[in-house]
Amino acid sequence: MKYRSTRGEQQELTSADAVIRGLASDRGLYVPEEIPALPFAIKDMLDQPYTAFAEKVIGAFFDDYTEEEIHSCVQNAYTNTFEAEEIVPVKHAGDAWFLELYHGRTAAFKDMALSILPYLLTTAVKKQHDDHKICILTATSGDTGKAAMAGFADVPGTEIIVFYPNNGVSQVQEQQMRTQEGKNVHVFSIEGNFDDAQTGVKTIFQDSDFAKKLDAQGIRLSSANSINIGRLVPQIAYYVYGYAQLIKQGAIEDGDSVNITVPTGNFGNILAAYYAKRMGIPVKKLICASNRNRVLTDFLTTGVYDANRDFYQTNSPSMDILVSSNLERLLYHLSGDDSSEIASLMESLDKDRKYEIPSAMKDKLSLFSAGSADMKQTDAAIGEMYKKNHYLMDTHTAVAYYVYEQYRSKTGDHTPTLIASTASPYKFADSVAASIGLPKAENNFRCIDEVAEETGVPVPASFKGLESRPILHDQVIRVNEMKDAVADALK
Ligand SMILES: *Cc1c(COP(=O)(O)O)cnc(C)c1O
Repeated sequence: MKYRSTRGEQQELTSADAVIRGLASDRGLYVPEEIPALPFAIKDMLDQPYTAFAEKVIGAFFDDYTEEEIHSCVQNAYTNTFEAEEIVPVKHAGDAWFLELYHGRTAAFKDMALSILPYLLTTAVKKQHDDHKICILTATSGDTGKAAMAGFADVPGTEIIVFYPNNGVSQVQEQQMRTQEGKNVHVFSIEGNFDDAQTGVKTIFQDSDFAKKLDAQGIRLSSANSINIGRLVPQIAYYVYGYAQLIKQGAIEDGDSVNITVPTGNFGNILAAYYAKRMGIPVKKLICASNRNRVLTDFLTTGVYDANRDFYQTNSPSMDILVSSNLERLLYHLSGDDSSEIASLMESLDKDRKYEIPSAMKDKLSLFSAGSADMKQTDAAIGEMYKKNHYLMDTHTAVAYYVYEQYRSKTGDHTPTLIASTASPYKFADSVAASIGLPKAENNFRCIDEVAEETGVPVPASFKGLESRPILHDQVIRVNEMKDAVADALK
């Protein structure tokens, strides 16, 4: 299986190459030249653990890795790193089945991919007989940085350096980062906002003299960004697994259709569900849920993508996004692999922050349904679900549930539906506490205690005692000191 750029770069790569490079030099994203069929019959896999699904699904896409290599990546990623024994529990509540993707080390679904990416990356480097150490550089607004740190901590052959804005992350997120253990972990707080941190990281990546200097030291810079194909492919596995669990739980018969609803930001998670459908999972509708930043809702209903609009900060911050990078991959597939079409759409996006897809592509959007929830609707969904079913959703998952209920009443479509549940309710404890009617607590940590006491839902281990854990990283630097900080950390 070869990988190529969505924007037409001629070169074809193996998956290991694509994982190492991350982004193509024409700024396109790597896509598989064809989407493999499921390499097994679902009915033969019903009693298999999550890791068996992961090995087979990832192996079908990354066939230049040996079976032993994939086996070892999957085992390293998912052994003793998830609190739930099933890794991905599937729970029925209200009108849907929740695919709980948040039982990893940082209590959000990004752990599903960031737990395995370090192993896919270091294995890829080894396969190429390259003995460079990989250094991951990341700017974060909170969640990704912590999940990347947890994934890369103490993985041999890697270093991880994270920059976060000193006034742009929550108290809990900052404490999570400052207490991260691992001999290869480096964390810096930046005087500035997220954009400053992001620009600083980009500048370092573009500095070819610096790259040469690091190369001489045996180090290669890389990114754990969500556009890396090594983050996308592992996410396909849980939709296949989720389908099998619905059969096992008696919700459907093998072969029956399901709907999948995904709370969406950068379009990675829902794209993985699209790939699962293309592999053979019978999906009727993919329901794309947005918060008040409803650029995707508008796009999927009109075929016009228009990022010229106000940006809102919401209580589902991981979906506060106006340009969803992974949408480019969907457009590529819907266009019939027409990379010149994609290059021209993306040029419009760069120039005008806007594009419209041709009508033949619009017709294919009918696989999707889309909707949005504002903060009030999100909070109401959390409160109602808890009151009626004693099931606790985080704000992102609640956006999805609200949009799904809207879809269901509008269409009368009662097809059994999986909802991607993307974060622990404790990750956004202040909003959750207010939604279930608890009084305002003095800080985030007290909110966690209060929600736990009220609901009895277990607190993830990564939050227990977080407040009093020793601070291991306390450096605050200016943006123009970032490069020196990297050089120092890698000495
Ligand atoms: C990142 C994230 C999302 C959005 O996922 P995408 O793949 O970017 O669409 C949703 N919920 C949570 C909790 C997240 O961290």
